[in-house]
Amino acid sequence: MRIAIIGAGIGGLTLALMLRARGLQADVFEQAGQLAEIGAAVALSANANREFARLGLLDGIAAHAWEPSELVWRDGADGRRIAAHAIGLGGCYRAEFGAPYYGVHRADLQTVLSRALPPESLRLGHRLTGIEESAGELRLAFANGQTAAADLVIGADGVRSTVRGWITGPDGAGARYSGTSAFRGIVPTASLRSLPDPGAIQFWAGPDAHLLHYPIGPGGEHINFFAVKEGPPAWPGGDRWTIDETPQQALETFTGWAPAVTEMIAASDLHSRWGLFVAAPLRRWHRGSVVLIGDAAHGMLPHHGQGANTTIEDAAVLAELIAQAPAPSEHEIMLGRYQNLRMRRTRIIQRSAWDTNRVLHLPIDAEAPLRDRAKRFARFPEQFGWIHAFDANASKMA
Ligand code: FAD
Repeated sequence: MRIAIIGAGIGGLTLALMLRARGLQADVFEQAGQLAEIGAAVALSANANREFARLGLLDGIAAHAWEPSELVWRDGADGRRIAAHAIGLGGCYRAEFGAPYYGVHRADLQTVLSRALPPESLRLGHRLTGIEESAGELRLAFANGQTAAADLVIGADGVRSTVRGWITGPDGAGARYSGTSAFRGIVPTASLRSLPDPGAIQFWAGPDAHLLHYPIGPGGEHINFFAVKEGPPAWPGGDRWTIDETPQQALETFTGWAPAVTEMIAASDLHSRWGLFVAAPLRRWHRGSVVLIGDAAHGMLPHHGQGANTTIEDAAVLAELIAQAPAPSEHEIMLGRYQNLRMRRTRIIQRSAWDTNRVLHLPIDAEAPLRDRAKRFARFPEQFGWIHAFDANASKMA
């Protein structure tokens, strides 16, 4: 069977590795000329790390990662702790969820994943422009003029997926601007003198905004942060992910916030604001022998840190189903089964991320919202433990 994966992001690379672990070979077509996710990080939770352990890659990832001590929520103005849960402390998270929680630089993760693949299976500089079905096979056209034939095509091409348009028609094709935007940066931990608990993953919550940060690198020597703001109401960047902005403009957005927050933004060399885009809920994730995984299927707000983690779950479930039903005549039923296994869970997390956005951005001057927030976050294991405890391997066996 000829399998083509479109996109060499976290989802595409992981799926190729999972297929390989089952004796199946796939070609991964990536539009970029090289894999270089510079300047950003990702938090990997137990639901993804147990899959990397199964692939034998977890030690390689751990060598570049940091396990946060705690998950802490703070008042963005005065820095008071609203709620906290142990993660690395006392091995609590691993004991509860069966795998670790790691902060890792995206470039490091991509390197670990891509090095585990044979180089000839990665086809860089291939931007998919069209798919056609004829004579029982799928013909792929790329912007560089090349074509390829496949029996099964997986769209792992992100929230602005080209493959999605082929499945849904024009209605589901575009990405939706969330009405929120973000500043991102990576700064040396040693430069953050006002930061309490630098080894923790922390949310600083305030009116219409929040800042999230966690340590990355083997010694936690850098802090990755992500500062979200409501608005602008319409995205001024058109098709671009970012618009130009300076640290000074970002700081103005966080005037009056705790020194730890403003110090972190000031220490960065950020020069842009990112629009946060999501995928509209889709009625179907597959058509014929073409299917979606990851952000292409369920691009979500990143407030549960679950976009990449659920993408890895998708890859685990899909790889196993493909291995069980490789014949083209079985694809329609097999892909329907994949959709049934994945759509509900990811949609609930997508919705919950919107809800979390609202709770994080409540006004801080009133005590009631603060109490609401404390109540919600203090119940983290009961409210959100199901996200982390999930075992994709068990779900597909059900
Ligand atoms: P992507 O990573 O977007 O990869 C898609 C790939 O497809 C890209 O390499 C792209 O170049 C390629 N491509 C696109 N179009 C084409 C084409 N036409 N032809 C060929 N190639 C193409 N998730 C977490 O789990 N934890 C986190 O801590 C976290 N933090 C985040 C912070 C921010 C600020 C943001 C915005 C997101 C965060 N996420 C997080 C979400 C996570 O980044 C995504 O959900 C995840 O990367 C999705 O993986 P993917 O492989 O589906 O898509």
